[in-house]
Amino acid sequence: MQKKIHPLISPSLGTERTLTSFHYGPAGGQKVYVQSSLHADELPGMLAAWELRRKLGALEAAGKLRGEIVVVPVPNPIGLNQHVLGQMIGRFEANTATNFNRNFYDLAALVIPRIESRLTGDAKENLRAVRESMREALDAQTPRTELESQRLALQRLSYDADIVLDLHCDFEGAMHVYTNPELWADVEPLARYLDAKASLLALNSIGNPFDEIHSFCWSELRARFGSRFPIPNGSISVTVELRGQADVSYAHAEHDSQAIVEYLTQRGLIEGTPAHMPPLAFPATPLAGTEPLVAPISGVLVFRTPAGIWIEKGQEIADIVDPLTDRVETVRAGTAGVLYARHRTRFATAGMEVARIAGATPLRGGSLLSA
Ligand SMILES: [Zn+2]
Repeated sequence: MQKKIHPLISPSLGTERTLTSFHYGPAGGQKVYVQSSLHADELPGMLAAWELRRKLGALEAAGKLRGEIVVVPVPNPIGLNQHVLGQMIGRFEANTATNFNRNFYDLAALVIPRIESRLTGDAKENLRAVRESMREALDAQTPRTELESQRLALQRLSYDADIVLDLHCDFEGAMHVYTNPELWADVEPLARYLDAKASLLALNSIGNPFDEIHSFCWSELRARFGSRFPIPNGSISVTVELRGQADVSYAHAEHDSQAIVEYLTQRGLIEGTPAHMPPLAFPATPLAGTEPLVAPISGVLVFRTPAGIWIEKGQEIADIVDPLTDRVETVRAGTAGVLYARHRTRFATAGMEVARIAGATPLRGGSLLSA
């Protein structure tokens, strides 16, 4: 194992932060990149990454690693140190209200102007040429802020990984994953090992979140040049939502890190026989088919269903109770599907999203991500 330190731009006098990456296995062949808690207040992944590192250390010592596996357990030290009146603010940078998982460097936009003359009839060569072009483009960037330098440092570690796993969680939720529909066949085994209750597919949900900038680039290059040059999928990139923010336990971390080990064994990056793959709980659905359920009035939010179960259309999901007028409004499902996420707060403001259902029929367009 090799440990590397990556300094970020000092944001103000007397303050300097760094990223730490842990590198297991032999470099130069297949590569996996795993990061956790990019939204800093989503801690289940950080514990799972720690467990994963222990497993990788043992596998490396036993000579079982066939590729390089990079783990960044703390990819957002900026967010980890943002506290306001006793509350941690880990999703947005306090100074700019920027979501920490948006606006990554758009690899497609960076590569497209410089790649055409380097493409050939050989898919493997094209994979290498595109990655080289990504590296050159990232090397040419000049970050100005601490946050930009954090994004760039992460992308320089991840751009050439064959598999990218970004470990997040919801407010409250069931295990679910987001990925590119063109990658679903490659991601399904991971969803099965993790026991995902929802698998949400989107090519480009707009906003340049971390997982999409890795996968969308290859889809975009294929759309531009695919009729003339063979362009493979260079990155199996997945956002994994490890349940809810309070679901931090050794049992979950053990299950989730072992699921990643089984997946990497199934992909041939770890020597051995992968465990039996459990069935997928529910079929994958389009991200555009997810239904946000909204509180029609303000009041106390009382859930009537847990996360992670199948919901029929019209089923009662939550009540909003107004104690001043005695009005009680029931929020019902407008679509059938798995209720995969719920809000953490129990006070609803009018129009607030309180839960989400993974429906099978596309309902929405435009940007598919929440704030
Ligand atoms: Zn997140």
